[in-house]
Amino acid sequence: MSHTTIVVGGIATARLSRTELAARMALDSQCARTGLLKYPRVVSSSNGFVIAAYHRRGALHDALQQADIIDADGMPLVVASRLFCERPLAERVATTDFVHDAAEVAVRDGLNFYFLGAKPGVAENAADNLRRLHPGLSVVGVRHGYFSESEVPGICEEIRASRADVLWVGLGSPRQETFAVDNREHLRGLAWIRTCGGLFDHYDGTSRRAPAWMQTAGLEWLFRASREPVRLGIRYLWTNPIAVYHLVTNTHD
Ligand code: UDP
Repeated sequence: MSHTTIVVGGIATARLSRTELAARMALDSQCARTGLLKYPRVVSSSNGFVIAAYHRRGALHDALQQADIIDADGMPLVVASRLFCERPLAERVATTDFVHDAAEVAVRDGLNFYFLGAKPGVAENAADNLRRLHPGLSVVGVRHGYFSESEVPGICEEIRASRADVLWVGLGSPRQETFAVDNREHLRGLAWIRTCGGLFDHYDGTSRRAPAWMQTAGLEWLFRASREPVRLGIRYLWTNPIAVYHLVTNTHD
């Protein structure tokens, strides 16, 4: 199974629906288990913030250059692809939605997840909540995301020993993307290292998602900014115009 990519805001972005991406995860997991996949694939997400940061050519740019699959976690990306591409993106792949497609496939195929990231206790709660939503879901390990560089080899060893197929890593950007590409070799045997931002906080049971109409209208960023006005308000103020510029000038088949 291959996937095609188009350039969205300057980033090669996968034209995979959520279902197709989950099927890809299942296939890669079988390949990893049989030794056909030498290194785990790095699977990451693009959105307006990522596009703006990417063009500053720093750590996020370097890490994303090495990612295997980059999906579109933002309605503005889908809209831009519809305007400027003959083969637009199938749909938005929000990680908070995709986790359910992935969990269904994981239960069906007996795949194991490992959750790395967020403050102590948060990923545990997320694992419990997702297990409740997907009975039989196997989360074989959980670890918070506040660690030093010197702890990384031990953490990788622990993840490998857990026999996880998919590592979900939510450390914020660009730390999670850098962690993923830097540790691919130390995580041999896994199928995917999937960056997931604030996914664990989302399923901790404390944070709320934007109303459906805002998600459809591409305004989830505005909802998030209204909940954390200083940090995210400042972020969106400088990233939105840059993202729009790149979406308009650098989106094509
Ligand atoms: N996080 C972490 N380790 C760190 C920094 C952040 O595990 O050193 C977690 C944080 O607790 C949150 C997630 O990374 O669960 C995403 O953080 P944030 O919302 O700041 O990410 P961003 O929106 O900047 O990508």
